[in-house]
Amino acid sequence: MDIAERGQSAETRYRMAFCALHSQIMGLAMGGDHIRQYGLSMAHKDWDIAEFTDSHGRLGKPLDTGKVLVHRSIRIQEPYLVWDSGKTNDDEPRDLKPSKGVLGDFVKLWQGNAEAILRFARKHGVLMLDEEGKPSSHWIPEGREHLEWWCFISRRACAVLNIAAALVQGELGPAEDWNVIDSSLDASFPKSKNRSTPHGLSAARMHFQSELEVWAELGRITLSIRRDNRRNAWVTEIDFGSRLFAVLALQLLLTVADADGLYNCDGCKLPYARPRQLKRPKPGQSNFCPQCGRQAALRHADLRRKSRMRQARQLYGEGMSVVGIADRLKATPATVGHWVKLVRR
Ligand SMILES: [Zn+2]
Repeated sequence: MDIAERGQSAETRYRMAFCALHSQIMGLAMGGDHIRQYGLSMAHKDWDIAEFTDSHGRLGKPLDTGKVLVHRSIRIQEPYLVWDSGKTNDDEPRDLKPSKGVLGDFVKLWQGNAEAILRFARKHGVLMLDEEGKPSSHWIPEGREHLEWWCFISRRACAVLNIAAALVQGELGPAEDWNVIDSSLDASFPKSKNRSTPHGLSAARMHFQSELEVWAELGRITLSIRRDNRRNAWVTEIDFGSRLFAVLALQLLLTVADADGLYNCDGCKLPYARPRQLKRPKPGQSNFCPQCGRQAALRHADLRRKSRMRQARQLYGEGMSVVGIADRLKATPATVGHWVKLVRR
């Protein structure tokens, strides 16, 4: 890739790849079953080796943040998937937390079964593509998207994972997958006459980074803030703009980056990609990004302990028994006894 190419916007690169793949998918539709089989049989093995999947072989990352607005009124009108906001209150779109398995379901869709795409869209949402097949920057109340576009984007996500898995193992990645991303590439990444131009693995990584930038840019993921009344605090969270494509882009990037998922740090209050070697926090449990780390965790635990101690002393002052307080605060009677021993009735 030369400098001029790197300077192209993600949208231009997406558009070029889209045109190239369009003809490829038309070819598939005319009976390239062995090629259809290719993407997934190869996927299972290599995604497991690269540890993109969990111990059950499932793809996807938990996203403890953000929402997607999913239409209820979605149907197939060949060759389109059509959606609108419905006619009654019961048809109104639902605000859903993105599910962990959404990427795993999505990368199977390119094999081109309209019913499977419809089931997926009803469960997770539509891609929200504009009239040209490009992911929209905003949520659209009604519209339609060509089923081929779904196949194209699903196949492309699959190609990203296949290449990422190969690169992890020090390999260039399958030519079929590179062809999906950019049909003008020579997937053997040969040396060129210009010695300063990268070749081999470093060239493959450079092109791959450029592909990831396309996903990041089209995902248009931003940050927003909301009030969490249960915790009586402001919480920053990822803003997907209610769009499923943004969720898919983020899950794909997290998988390639080998993070366990996206969580909100209770220290700095920012969303962070949690390293896999750290244990996954239970819902509602405090957790911290690597930057805030153990120190913030200890400080937090100390604050929590002090607050419970204050509560215990107050209840004791109001005449509650030590056993009663222990039960209420989920502490042992010995701990509560220790907390209140200096307090006189
Ligand atoms: Zn933090």
